[in-house]
This record gives sequence, C-alpha cells and structure tokens, in this order.
Amino acid sequence: MFEEYKNHDIAVYAGYLKDDTKLMQSASGGVATALASYVLEQGGYVVGVAYTPDLHNAEYIIIHDQSELYKLKGSKYIDTQKGTIYKDVKQLLSEGELVLFTGTPCTVAALHKMVGRPENLISCELICHGPTLPKVHQDFIATLERKEKSKIIDFSVRHKKHEWQPSYICAKFKNGAIYEKPLFETDYGYAFMMLGKEGCYKCQFRGDNRTGDIMVGDFWGATENDEFWNKCGVSVIFAETERGNELVKKIEDFQLFESDFERAVEQNPMIIRPKDKEVKTDLFKQLLFEKGLHYATIHTYSKKKRIKYFLEKILPNGVVSAVKKIKK
Ligand SMILES: Cc1cc2nc3c(=O)[nH]c(=O)nc-3n(C[C@H](O)[C@H](O)[C@H](O)COP(=O)(O)OP(=O)(O)OC[C@H]3O[C@@H](n4cnc5c(N)ncnc54)[C@H](O)[C@@H]3O)c2cc1C
Ligand code: SF4
Repeated sequence: MFEEYKNHDIAVYAGYLKDDTKLMQSASGGVATALASYVLEQGGYVVGVAYTPDLHNAEYIIIHDQSELYKLKGSKYIDTQKGTIYKDVKQLLSEGELVLFTGTPCTVAALHKMVGRPENLISCELICHGPTLPKVHQDFIATLERKEKSKIIDFSVRHKKHEWQPSYICAKFKNGAIYEKPLFETDYGYAFMMLGKEGCYKCQFRGDNRTGDIMVGDFWGATENDEFWNKCGVSVIFAETERGNELVKKIEDFQLFESDFERAVEQNPMIIRPKDKEVKTDLFKQLLFEKGLHYATIHTYSKKKRIKYFLEKILPNGVVSAVKKIKK
C-alpha cells in the first residue's frame, strides 16, 4: 500500500513534548512548538498562524521571542490572511536570518516558489484537511458573545479538556465565564467538515507533491498499545529533506520515536488525498451567507440528526438522553 509515495520522506516519526503542561497547550504532540522553540533559541525567526487581536480572523505572523510562542499554539481552522508575509520572509532571508516557516502545504509551496530553497530557510507544512471560511468562525463567536453578553478574550478549537481526544471548543469571556463543548458537537465542528475553500477539494499539495522540509500532523490511529502513545497528544512527523531531518533530531524536550509511512497514513488520508465535497456543501454555503451559521447547520442536517435536534428543543432537559438509554 502507498508504494508510490513511500520514497518521498527520509524518515517518519511519532512523538510528543516531554512536559505535560506544555503538551496540553498544543494541538497534537506539540512538535510545531518544539521546532519553533529550537529555532528561536538559535536567534532565528518563526512564521506561523495566530488569531488577530480581535479574534475574528487568523493571520500569518512572525515571532522572534519565546514569550510570543503561545500565539501560534493550537490549530486555527479558518482560512488565514497572508498579508505581506512572503515579502517579509524574503527580506529576513536576504539579511541572512534563520527562518522557520510553518504553514499549510499550499502556503509553503508558494513561499518556495518565491524564494527558492536558501540554506537559512526551513519549511514545515501541516497535514491539511483544508480550513473552513472565516464567516463560520465570526458567526460562532458573535452568537456566543450575544448569549453571554460579554466579549471573548481567548478562543481555541483544539482545547484538550482532559486529554487529546475529543477536541473541545473553549471560549473564555471577559466576565470570567467559560464555554466548553466537544468540537464536533458544535455548529463550528459541523461547518469545518461541511464547508471548505473551493480549491481545497482539488488540493494538489499531497502525496509526492509536498514541498516542505518537514510535515507535521496528528498521529491519528495511535493507541495505548503503541510505545509512542501519550493520552495528551501524539504528533506525526515526516522528514522530507536532510535539512528537515537534522532539525527534527536536534529538538530538545521532545520524545521522538521512529515510525513508518504506512502506519502514519492508515488513519490520516489527508496526507495523500484531498477531502471530498459533501452533497449539501453548496446549500450550506448559501444558507450560511443568507441566514447565518446555526440556520445553515440545522437545515443541512441529516434527517436523523434533525429529528434529534428538534426533540431536544421541545422536550424537557434529559428526556432525549433518557429515551436513548431505554433504547439501548
Ligand atoms: C485547517 C487545518 C486542517 C488540518 N487537518 C489535519 C488533518 O487532516 N490531519 C492531521 O493530522 N493534522 C491536521 N492539521 C494539523 C493539526 O491540527 C495540528 O495543527 C498539527 O498537528 C500541529 O500540532 P502541534 O501540536 O505540533 O502544534 P502546536 O504546538 O499546537 O502549534 C500549532 C502550529 O500550527 C500552526 N497553525 C495553526 N493554525 C494554522 C493554520 N490555519 N494554517 C497554518 N498553520 C497553522 C501554528 O503556526 C503552529 O505552528 C490541520 C491543521 C489545520 C490548521
Ligand atoms: S487543503 Fe490544500 S489548498 Fe486547501 S489550505 Fe490545505 S494545502 Fe491549501
């Protein structure tokens, strides 16, 4: 299986940050944080994605200090503003600065097209299912803020409440309130699976077309029977070039295990193929812009999900779950 892609990578690893507190703040095993931390220690610059200060969008930023690393932690599941990032990185590279660029595979490919592969650049791509549209994120945040009558000051779609899985949405409000719900039980999680950017359904930057020095993601399919298991999160790491492999082997405070391509891809198809468009994607998008996120969600639910949703709305608290228990 996967023979045609196997020779692309020099090595495949699994691993996680040794410090559990830091690991719990990262989306998966924290390898992106470990790589960034190492490059900052060498006096280099790190490019990654942070939420904008108003939390309404996500953008590429450059950091040069460990104190800013928290901004990059955690996956932002929305299309990201590029601003002047390619130009700024080109400038740093021309001044001889060491740069680690972390981004989606298409962004990494665009950067390499612009600047080539100078020795002071290391690129790290994320395995990419494709983001959803900022409108989803903005509607979700606005609804929460309206209900709570308070501004959100911190937001994550990959919050580890107890452990790595399931991912929670966590929103912290100015008034001290906290909203927490498993991502895939929310309108946001539904939209992430239902609606991507048009180009993402035909994404080329997979399999052999990956252009980074390193690719990282979640080691989906890892279980407690694996020696590299950690309930707080496990990263999968593909060293695509010698430069990438050298850097991965240098990172400290990170527990690294050798793995193999087949095992890593088994439960993570986005490494080799783009996601499929859902039958109701276009309808969802239309309703999202006409009527908002929640309306689009409940009006594109499957029949079974819709019945459950409306029963939960009209029946007193607890009745639906009691019925479910009786059925079992
Ligand atoms: C839209 C999207 C889809 C993804 N789909 C998959 C998938 O199908 N399978 C899989 O295994 N992994 C996927 N990932 C990657 C995964 O969610 C983690 O981001 C990755 O494993 C890094 O985790 P970490 O613990 O090493 O990173 P952390 O230590 O938490 O650091 C987060 C890193 O992610 C970067 N980042 C955050 N949001 C974005 C963004 N929107 N675009 C570019 N870079 C970003 C930050 O700059 C930082 O480098 C996806 C990520 C995104 C953003
Ligand atoms: S799915 Fe492909 S095109 Fe879409 S953001 Fe990811 S890498 Fe880019």
